[in-house]
Amino acid sequence: MEDIVCNGCSLLCDDVSAEVSGKNVNSLGFCKLGHTHLETAITHKIGSIEKKLVKAAEILVNAENLFLYGWTRTINEAIIERLKIASTLNGHFASSADLGSMQAMSHSIHSQGLDINLEYVRNNGEFIIYWGSDPSESLHRHPSRFAVLPRGEKIPEGIESRTIGVVDVRETETMKMANHRLILPAGSDAELLDTVISELEGKSLIKDTVLGIPVSELIGFVRGLQKSECTVIFYGSGVINSGNQDANLSGIAKLVEVLRSSGKEAYALPMFVQSNTMGATKAAFEGKSGANSLQRLISREFDTVLVVCDDVLANLPGPAAKALAETRIVYVGQLGGLTDNRATVSIHTVDTITAGSGSMTRVDMDDIKLNNGTEINY
Ligand code: SF4
Repeated sequence: MEDIVCNGCSLLCDDVSAEVSGKNVNSLGFCKLGHTHLETAITHKIGSIEKKLVKAAEILVNAENLFLYGWTRTINEAIIERLKIASTLNGHFASSADLGSMQAMSHSIHSQGLDINLEYVRNNGEFIIYWGSDPSESLHRHPSRFAVLPRGEKIPEGIESRTIGVVDVRETETMKMANHRLILPAGSDAELLDTVISELEGKSLIKDTVLGIPVSELIGFVRGLQKSECTVIFYGSGVINSGNQDANLSGIAKLVEVLRSSGKEAYALPMFVQSNTMGATKAAFEGKSGANSLQRLISREFDTVLVVCDDVLANLPGPAAKALAETRIVYVGQLGGLTDNRATVSIHTVDTITAGSGSMTRVDMDDIKLNNGTEINY
């Protein structure tokens, strides 16, 4: 077995190993999602790409107005290459990070940085809150590696020493292991945050059901916050893609501030899902991204699009996907999907889980080095 880094999600687990023999995959430490990802990746064969490269280069060089999209699943070194291509061919670029993640990291709640990493959570996180995020659907090993199960320096008993809260618009798998489960109507996160903050500040007392949440549940949640020495709120797509992103993030930032002002530790961390969303976001902060590129795509400003490692036609909102489908598409990435099928030229690549070097940036902004594909070559 060879130690590798799984790129199935933004946790980039570097404590896993795998062995591939023909079509058989043996893995150790992977979650189901990661194992399936590896099984799928080994079926990707790239074949000869020389002629396709020449054709792709011709299209890109002759583009009048070039748009570059993707790179949230590539290594950081490839993100730097994107900058060079954009600069050489005078292109503009965007990625799925523009749809929420970038705004979250630009918000004053983070100001482009994070206060702690996941190892800090493992060692200190006492009250863990998943707010609008469900690791059982996306970042499977988040609870077992970092936030819920493991023991840590100040968490001697693991899960027994932690309190878990889940706030969501529906019952989720993650709720099954939670001490506090708050189910609220869609779009009312900011209102709930206001209520919790008022109770913590003693400005108003909860006496009645709030947003359908029973008084005992809500009071228990607030008492949990008051007791905890270190609270960590992991917010996800329910917070940043609900159309109320700014108010939601401001509410979480205020909650963190109120807890800190009472002498406790409190932090908010994002739960972006795609393996290198944070790398793409960091690169954008370093001045390597264009502004309003998606809007310009919708306005039909681009005639050619280079898409890298993203089935963008399946993932973009309708108007942007429609505009993109009307351009000449050069696709670089794994075989299959709407974008691959629609592209004028497709250059298929192997997945970095089977052949990857360089680095990707974990969801807590830590860079993780890859060294995949030496022994698991197939
Ligand atoms: S949690 Fe994510 S990175 Fe870790 S093994 Fe599962 S899919 Fe891979």
